[in-house]
Amino acid sequence: AKRDDDIRFRFFEPGMQARVQERRQLVADLHLALDRGEFELHYQPLVELVQNRIIGFEALVRWRHPVRGLVPPDAFIPLAEETGLIEPLGKWILFKACNDAIAWPPDIKVAVNLSVVQFAKGDLPGTVAAALAGAGLMPRRLELEITESLLLHENEATLATLRKLREHGVSISMDDFGIGYSSLSYIAKFPFDKVKIDRSFVAAASSQRRGGAAIIRAVAELCGSLGITTTAEGIETLDQLQQVVSLGCSEGQGYFFAPPRPLADIAALFNSWSQS
Ligand code: C2E
Ligand code: CA
Ligand code: CA
Ligand code: CA
Repeated sequence: AKRDDDIRFRFFEPGMQARVQERRQLVADLHLALDRGEFELHYQPLVELVQNRIIGFEALVRWRHPVRGLVPPDAFIPLAEETGLIEPLGKWILFKACNDAIAWPPDIKVAVNLSVVQFAKGDLPGTVAAALAGAGLMPRRLELEITESLLLHENEATLATLRKLREHGVSISMDDFGIGYSSLSYIAKFPFDKVKIDRSFVAAASSQRRGGAAIIRAVAELCGSLGITTTAEGIETLDQLQQVVSLGCSEGQGYFFAPPRPLADIAALFNSWSQS
């Protein structure tokens, strides 16, 4: 076994060295990025499907790296979580999103993604209240998106934080529903206002793959009976749009409507949209 290990070690060493080096560099850059103002929020419309109205925008963070260009969140959010940077970055995102949304029409909401780490450390309800107050934004205009991994180790502290946030008047959405460890029982057990069905089910619903449509219908039905809104994520085609509407989803999001765009483009997008 020792010899095998040695061979493997030698074989993988150059690649690993390079990856470790690259990661170290990215972490170093990440620590400077906030101070240097390299993060930006892009926004993707959330659409009420029956009336075809924009009801809000989801904030999606990007890192404008001086050398690498626009870095997508999947490439740095996990690093930010591991290094603790997610705390100040998450705060910046909340404050920026609230400040951006205050310029929009008063019935338009802003949805912000939260990392599980933001629940574990610091005073999240306090941060959210400060962001709202700082911008002068009505709490009902803020939606906070959490993933089911938060509920995996369900504990009193998490529940208390969720309740406190809702008492402030902000709404809570469960993101990426259906992947990972999600179960229908979460929907009934936790105080959600909205469930966002993962785009893998939306894609499956319009293809021949089994289960996609049935799952969407079941989730939409359960949510409907509990007064919870269902959003279909990742709608890319008219066929998918028609499918999710017929399966009972009331809201949707996806490239079919618009991809995430920089803040500067939002006003034009909104104005060109025929809000009926
Ligand atoms: P998410 O919250 O599920 O966000 C939706 C992702 O799907 C976005 O990717 C969006 O660009 C993409 N998307 C939207 N419509 C379509 C479509 O029709 N087809 C396909 N294939 N994709 C579509 P993005 O912006 O790269 O974000 C990836 C993930 O990174 C997010 O997934 C979220 O988990 C995380 N993230 C993004 N912004 C933030 C943030 O501000 N804070 C935290 N904690 N996480 C964030
Ligand atoms: Ca989300
Ligand atoms: Ca999602
Ligand atoms: Ca996601």
